[in-house]
Amino acid sequence: MLEELKKRVYEANILLPKYGLVTFTWGNVSEYDPETKLFVIKPSGVNYETMTSEDMVVMDLNGNKVEGDLNPSSDTPTHLEIYKAWADKGVKGVVHTHSSYATSFAQAGRGIPCYGTTHADYFYGEIPCARCLTKQEIDEAYEENTGHLIVNEFARLDKDPVACPAVLCKNHGVFAWGKDGFDAVHNAVVTEEVAKMAYRCEVINPRVMPAPQELQDKHYYRKHGANAYYGQAKR
Ligand SMILES: [Zn+2]
Repeated sequence: MLEELKKRVYEANILLPKYGLVTFTWGNVSEYDPETKLFVIKPSGVNYETMTSEDMVVMDLNGNKVEGDLNPSSDTPTHLEIYKAWADKGVKGVVHTHSSYATSFAQAGRGIPCYGTTHADYFYGEIPCARCLTKQEIDEAYEENTGHLIVNEFARLDKDPVACPAVLCKNHGVFAWGKDGFDAVHNAVVTEEVAKMAYRCEVINPRVMPAPQELQDKHYYRKHGANAYYGQAKR
């Protein structure tokens, strides 16, 4: 079942090592199908070189494996909570990485400030860093609670997950999302790139300030929302 989706999710996962976002078997991509209310995710601990689309695992939103010979990624409950909360907003792809620069911000417990238009084109404002989980949250249901924390953090900050399609998890790494698995990977690549630029920017000028709000607004809104004009008109 969902053969087409399994192929897409496989291809999206293969992009992670291609773009240098993952080492060994780290990282995972999933995509949600609103028609069947199922999602497809990478299997746990399988090498990207030997993995095939048939290895992809089909899951339902109750956390049951619907199809697949292998165990799903250990981060599956985090993906699931994100879909449960945000699929209605159009979040249909989720990716998790420990990409180096973004994870460095996460380990330092800092969000990625918007220092320029590359960031503003994709993310409205700072990419936030969610707190570390408590001992109890880690012990009882680590991956599921990571998902709850991400969703709650966006509610607490009154941030729209569509306008800021990534988060850092303190002492851990990156979750990014998008309208499908490929879009989520795209946003994960941009997260890593803006983290790299932000890091260098702070090294070059330790007193650097975020880009002016009007510049951030200009760049975000010319690509997103009702009055967007970036790119070509849809034919
Ligand atoms: Zn991780």
